[in-house]
Amino acid sequence: ATTMTSQAVQTSAIDPKAEAAVQMIDVHKWYGEFHVLRDINLSVRRGERIVICGPSGSGKSTMIRCINRLEEHQKGRIIVDGTELTNDLKRIDEVRRDVGMVFQHFNLFPHLTILENCTLAPIWVKKMPKKDAEEIAMHYLKRVKIPEQANKYPGQLSGGQQQRVAIARSLCMSPKIMLFDEPTSALDPEMVKEVLDTMVGLAEEGMTMLCVTHEMGFARQVADRVIFMDYGQIVEMNTPDEFFKNPQHERTKLFLSQIL
Ligand code: ADP
Ligand code: MG
Repeated sequence: ATTMTSQAVQTSAIDPKAEAAVQMIDVHKWYGEFHVLRDINLSVRRGERIVICGPSGSGKSTMIRCINRLEEHQKGRIIVDGTELTNDLKRIDEVRRDVGMVFQHFNLFPHLTILENCTLAPIWVKKMPKKDAEEIAMHYLKRVKIPEQANKYPGQLSGGQQQRVAIARSLCMSPKIMLFDEPTSALDPEMVKEVLDTMVGLAEEGMTMLCVTHEMGFARQVADRVIFMDYGQIVEMNTPDEFFKNPQHERTKLFLSQIL
């Protein structure tokens, strides 16, 4: 009977019409023999802001890369905006269109201008007319406060400016969910704030966000929940208030004592 009950709970938890933006259910992943993600369970509501922290090598990048299938999980289920991630490539493409990702190293195309970086995917993936794509790109470049850089090349911009372009480029695809993987950790300190401010703006507009970051000020300011990962597991998940004031696990306490 117990098994039946937990089955029933699981089935309702994966209702594709449910409001969750992302659901990870009993997810495991291995790199060869190495068990990198261990039984990840996470449900992210639409509009929710999640901050993920944890020691280097704990599986943070791997976990969020599984959400847009840059990495494949081997066990469990991942459902993104109602679509389960399987080997159906057409559906993976659809999911990728809806999930923007910003990396530590901005990954802009160096031989394309800022504007061209922003219009590339809308033109080629969404088949948008060039003029429309450019209009949208300028809209988002204004929003990240660098419209005047549109015709420059990435190498001519500061790190903070390049990262804001990377955010604008993602927004040009009208994503439903944004993933950030340590977006400020490659930046000089004086540029961190301009990128965080951009992310705060996005959060305030209601974007669903999963952010791997050790910027705990950002976590306090915008996160609905903070997740602490260690050895491929979610060790702790709580509101920022509780997480910082009252960490439950020794590993969380140790980690916080090292970074705060
Ligand atoms: P984090 O982002 O928390 O630093 P990662 O998800 O990048 O952690 O990595 C988790 C673990 O998996 C690390 O031990 C890392 O060395 C290993 N790892 C990451 N990517 C690969 C890969 N492509 N092949 C094998 N091992 C990997
Ligand atoms: Mg990482």
